[in-house]
Amino acid sequence: MSEANHKALLPLPARLPVPIVDAHTHLDACGAKDAADVTAMVDRAASVGVMRVVTVADDLAAARWAAAAATWDERVFAAVAVHPTRTAAFSAADRAVIEELAARPRVVAVGETGLDYYWDYSPPQAQQEAFRWHIDLAKRVGKPLMIHDRDAHEDIYRILDEEGAPEKVVFHCFSGDADFARRCVERGYVLSFAGTVTFRNAKALREAARAVPVYQLLVETDAPFLTPHPFRGRPNEPYGAAYTIVDLAQLRGVDVAELSAAVTTNAERIFELSGDTESDFGGHES
Ligand SMILES: [Zn+2]
Repeated sequence: MSEANHKALLPLPARLPVPIVDAHTHLDACGAKDAADVTAMVDRAASVGVMRVVTVADDLAAARWAAAAATWDERVFAAVAVHPTRTAAFSAADRAVIEELAARPRVVAVGETGLDYYWDYSPPQAQQEAFRWHIDLAKRVGKPLMIHDRDAHEDIYRILDEEGAPEKVVFHCFSGDADFARRCVERGYVLSFAGTVTFRNAKALREAARAVPVYQLLVETDAPFLTPHPFRGRPNEPYGAAYTIVDLAQLRGVDVAELSAAVTTNAERIFELSGDTESDFGGHES
């Protein structure tokens, strides 16, 4: 994402009354390379109340980077997997690398994995095999499965049923309608909403976001992508999650502080995050 440079960043939103966690971001794709870059990015997020982030890998190099980044700053956690679009040649050696990284303590989820029927970089058969393998891995390491679902709701749902879903399943950037949201909720899955939920023309998605019990809700940026309204199309960073949660609170007719506290509790429970946000909050301002 060459356009994801600081020049074009969004204005900083107002600081949230209660801290939140960005449950899915790509710090590397946002332009971070080393520990100093990561800290600068998370400082920027923390200045508006986005205190912790889960940075997500989509290939082997990104997985190694994310696992390392999670050791550079206590506010950063990692998720590792091979993205469905990269599964055309997913070798045993690749699997061994993901497996080793997934077991590390700062790696809090297996993802993003799933199915992407929008792009055709990898045939559905290869994607499905890789998805099944990641489901099994999540169960073996006892960590949440973080799902990428693009135009593939029914196959994702069916394969999770066939394999037996891990104890914790997160649909990253949930993109279904209210009916699909209810079916996911029934299975105990957690739905994570990105900036797309703030788009005024995303009627079905906005309806879905109202149908999810607060206990099964997360917010994320998927930065540098999916920049929330009214900045759609510009590069995103984890602090953009503050715009999304304010919009989501409005949509659900609840208080921002209340919703923020709930999604933070959810993120802590699901990803077993360490670090006390209450005492951390405000601690990285200078
Ligand atoms: Zn992502």
